[in-house]
Amino acid sequence: MKKGLLVVISGPSGAGKGSIYRQVIDRTGMKRSVSVTTRQPRPGEVDGVDYYFRTEEQYQQMIAAGEFLETAAVYRNYYGTPKAPVFENLDNGYDVLFEVDVHGARSIKKQYPDAVEIFIMPPSFEELENRLRGRGTESESSLRTRLSSAMNELGKYERFDYIVFNDDLEEAVEKVIAIINAEKCKIKNNMSMINSLLGKK
Ligand code: 5GP
Repeated sequence: MKKGLLVVISGPSGAGKGSIYRQVIDRTGMKRSVSVTTRQPRPGEVDGVDYYFRTEEQYQQMIAAGEFLETAAVYRNYYGTPKAPVFENLDNGYDVLFEVDVHGARSIKKQYPDAVEIFIMPPSFEELENRLRGRGTESESSLRTRLSSAMNELGKYERFDYIVFNDDLEEAVEKVIAIINAEKCKIKNNMSMINSLLGKK
């Protein structure tokens, strides 16, 4: 069976990667990876849908049990990707989409070099600040932390396979879907199909 594609959307907080992620999931039917976090749920967030919300103690137990593909401390909270469901989906031929911070993207690429990684870039730093403020979910100190790490993360674009500038959400979503479709047509991702057509094992 053809293996699924692992696609990672990353970039600084406020670049709009969350909105792009949700749209791409809706339009492609790709499998989501639900992360585990120690941060408090925001209003409207549902355990098991947006995140698995866990205490720090529970999180440490999961680390010790080797349950994560990658884990990172982001803004004083832990975030991690549970390993088992991802590989199960890929082995069953499903494409999986991730939304993680820049460090998470790096760890995933190290462990799984076939991951396709897309960096979402805001059109300007001013726009990034407007978006973070507009969200209205962060305290002033959390906003400051997010803004200064965004500056740092903007410099990490070289490690990615693709970059998408998100000044128009619709266009950005279309670009991400185009990237995914092109990756699915790569020769190296179709060898089992090619070999079976050619009668090779
Ligand atoms: P938020 O608290 O706004 O939901 O997410 C904060 C940051 O954590 C975002 O940049 C988001 O992409 C990142 N994040 C969410 N899940 C994961 C994960 O499983 N691993 C890593 N490394 N980062 C994550």
